[in-house]
Amino acid sequence: MSKIIAWLILIFIVLFALRMIGLRNARKRRAETPPNDKSGAPMVRCIRCGVFLPRADAAKVSGGYACADGQCVPR
Ligand SMILES: [Zn+2]
Repeated sequence: MSKIIAWLILIFIVLFALRMIGLRNARKRRAETPPNDKSGAPMVRCIRCGVFLPRADAAKVSGGYACADGQCVPR
């Protein structure tokens, strides 16, 4: 009977160790992914008015990005 209990404890320890290794790998993977991965489009900040907008909608100006549609783009 004590042999069965010892085996059960051993199995539990092995399962616990595997779970810990899996958790550590998942946490490492999550830390490696960039924070902008969820939205897809990288956000930039307009240097004129400070509004955040997708980089595809922004105009590249000297020193950073500006709103492409508004009065922020220097002409
Ligand atoms: Zn702007």
